Amino acid sequence: MTSCIFCKIVEGSVPSSKVYEDEICLAFMDIQPVNSGHVLVIPKTHYANLSDLPSNMGGHLFQVAQRIALCMPKTNVKSEGVDFFLAHGEAAGQEVFHVHLHVIPRYKGDGFGFKFSPSYDILPERSELDAIAIQIKQQLEK
Ligand code: AMP
Ligand code: ZN
Repeated sequence: MTSCIFCKIVEGSVPSSKVYEDEICLAFMDIQPVNSGHVLVIPKTHYANLSDLPSNMGGHLFQVAQRIALCMPKTNVKSEGVDFFLAHGEAAGQEVFHVHLHVIPRYKGDGFGFKFSPSYDILPERSELDAIAIQIKQQLEK
């Protein structure tokens, strides 16, 4: 038996408020919403994080999230905009180790936002940006 809470939601052994379902993915309301209308889109198959997720699956999750985001202003949910958020790894804030894409309705003054480090205001030199870009590019070409 799985110990993963999202697998249990897929199985139906844990309750959820479903928004959308197909053969590949499931979307349901987050139990502790950042803002009212916060939805999670997950693959039905258990993939712990992005390292395990087949690349075509990411595209599908995004497409479903996009449809949900565009529906939001047509509902009673207060939604002047929408954030997508996906935490890959504990350091990035991942708490449930079954890939999930957050769809978070946003409105001015909702109090939600990223917290930046004190160095955020200091822009890096172009040479530093270029050096990092080269490293990422090299990895992508492998
Ligand atoms: P993360 O920090 O990105 O791993 O987000 C995990 C999310 O899962 C949080 O927003 C939780 O509120 C949500 N969550 C955890 N358990 C449940 C559940 N049983 N039903 C719906 N959402 C859940
Ligand atoms: Zn799972």
